[in-house]
Amino acid sequence: MSQQIAFIGAGNMASAILKGLIKQGKPAAQVHVSDPDSDKLAALSAEFPGLNTYTDNATCVATADAVVLAVKPQLMATVCEPLLTAQPSLADKLIVSVAAGIKVVRLRELLGNAGRVVRTMPNTPCLIGQGMTGLYADDLVSDIDRDTASELMQAVGKTAWVDSEAGLNLVIAASGSAPAYFFMFMEAMQKSVEAMGLDADTARQFVQQAAIGSSHLAASEMSKSFTELTAQVTSKGGTTAEAVATFKEQDLAGLVDQAMRACVARAEEME
Ligand code: NAD
Repeated sequence: MSQQIAFIGAGNMASAILKGLIKQGKPAAQVHVSDPDSDKLAALSAEFPGLNTYTDNATCVATADAVVLAVKPQLMATVCEPLLTAQPSLADKLIVSVAAGIKVVRLRELLGNAGRVVRTMPNTPCLIGQGMTGLYADDLVSDIDRDTASELMQAVGKTAWVDSEAGLNLVIAASGSAPAYFFMFMEAMQKSVEAMGLDADTARQFVQQAAIGSSHLAASEMSKSFTELTAQVTSKGGTTAEAVATFKEQDLAGLVDQAMRACVARAEEME
């Protein structure tokens, strides 16, 4: 990707993406970032010599081919307003938003009908390069722009496109919010074995490594369903079978379904 990329906002998500891009070989001189917090900019400049930093967003985007909007959703309108008069116009640039809950039509409105808008939904593992990002764009966005947006987000993990904004809300339930579910499940496991006598550090180490190992195992055996992977660990009459039977009796799947639906309903409400 040889384009000039500008980031509005130098927070967690923008820093993670720009670090990923530069680690993958993108010259820091082709990356521009703006933020009112000059300490954040100074820290990034120290880490990546040659990086272009700005406290003014309009100057930041001036030479950019693609602009990543990486501010909190509630700030988006305030941030976009001064960019409406930016020259050259944002209408000629690819816009990639990582902000939750702001639809493409609204982003276009905020940006004076900029056509080339891609909406994304990353998750927090992006912060360590292990993320998963859902992307959505409508027919006004070309394949070339889609590839650029994919490449950008692949700097922090894997990517997949969905074909509607409703799909992006499902991505929130399946991925954006998902780290919290796994942490809650891991905490419940840790607390339980602690209550039965294992010390806290040891309990955390075992639970955490079981989670890491299980997800790597699942990723290495993509031909097997989660049901098959569960069966692989579960001998008839054995210990895992007892735990699995308890989860089934208590309808773990039903509870998860309820939580996922509540998550999607909230995402829809926020749009
Ligand atoms: P953050 O608070 O770390 O970063 C936001 C940055 O915007 C801050 O550095 C802040 O100083 C800067 N900022 C504030 N006002 C500004 C302005 N007028 N112009 C330019 N910059 C300004 O937040 P984050 O976690 O990086 O999240 C950024 C966006 O990414 C949000 O919209 C969030 O919904 C989305 N997102 C984040 C995650 C995540 O894992 N962190 C996951 C999914 C989506």
